[in-house]
Amino acid sequence: MIELKNIDVVFKQQNKDFYAVKDVSLNINKGEVFGIVGPSGAGKSTLVRTINLLQHPTNGKVLIEGQNITNLNRKELSKVRLNIGMIFQHFNLISGATIAGNIAFALEANHYPKSKIQKRVQELLELVHLPEKADAYPANLSGGQKQRVAIARALANDPKILLCDEATSALDLENTEEIVSLLKEIKNKLHITIVFITHEMEVAKKLFDRIAFMENGELKEVANIYDAFSNPKVPIAKNLVERVINVTLPEQICAKEDEEIYRLKYTGEKAYSPIISEVSKKFEVSVDIINAKIDYIQGNPLGILIIAIAGEKNQRTAAYEYMKEHVFEIEKLAGGER
Ligand code: ADP
Repeated sequence: MIELKNIDVVFKQQNKDFYAVKDVSLNINKGEVFGIVGPSGAGKSTLVRTINLLQHPTNGKVLIEGQNITNLNRKELSKVRLNIGMIFQHFNLISGATIAGNIAFALEANHYPKSKIQKRVQELLELVHLPEKADAYPANLSGGQKQRVAIARALANDPKILLCDEATSALDLENTEEIVSLLKEIKNKLHITIVFITHEMEVAKKLFDRIAFMENGELKEVANIYDAFSNPKVPIAKNLVERVINVTLPEQICAKEDEEIYRLKYTGEKAYSPIISEVSKKFEVSVDIINAKIDYIQGNPLGILIIAIAGEKNQRTAAYEYMKEHVFEIEKLAGGER
């Protein structure tokens, strides 16, 4: 659906070349929510703006549904842009126009038949669950509602792609949830492709199908969302994922003499397997749960458990070997030598 090939974006900063985006190649599939995360300044916005050529790449190609759009003339480009809606962190609504007026504006700008505008606006307001707000002004809406209007406006001309630049970053938790679930609903209803930039990993976890990690203008890792959260590979991915799913050993707890403390990670089916009771039955050890958390990512469980295993050394070792076979990842946090 969207192909980025060897994209560079170079800015002149103090007379030197600065690579905001460096040799990024990416394929985004039709109908998926593709997310880009990374620290501020990583190049996320610059990269996403190359998709509709709001930012022209210094090198590389942008293909939309197989068509190379990198060097289109203005007229051809505006045609392509009709297929790409965009929303922003600060909504960018026209404050002097009503909600209906804001949406109608996008339709008028693209010569939508005048007689049909009112009906289309109402349809869009229903899509974003704000049918009663047509005559209100932006100032009278909550942040979440304003973003819903921005979504309606971005979808006015029935685009195939929706670009979202930090679309939930100005919102509180409740409004963020509202936008995340609306976008999921829209994706399922309209089969639209969504590209979403955020620095909020909770949003990534709930919304994305696939995720790309960016740092210093470079693409460091691309994975499906469950793999990225259960098994991040590169340092920036590990670092960002740990912020949301990590379970740590409380500071005041340290291992006793005959004890070892482990962090277990278990994925998929194994999340349900009663590993703890099996270990205590099979070996002469006692198991204490110190901390535990199960996350559900796209409906699949990812569990992290911190346990203390106490007993004779050979029994602890046997229990460790057994667990190693049965969990996705095991890491010793404290106690006994291994
Ligand atoms: P992100 O979205 O990950 O926070 P951006 O894409 O906004 O990052 O910016 C990446 C880098 O490019 C930043 O260091 C920023 O200062 C720089 N940059 C962005 N736009 C311009 C510009 N028009 N001129 C010069 N530098 C820019």
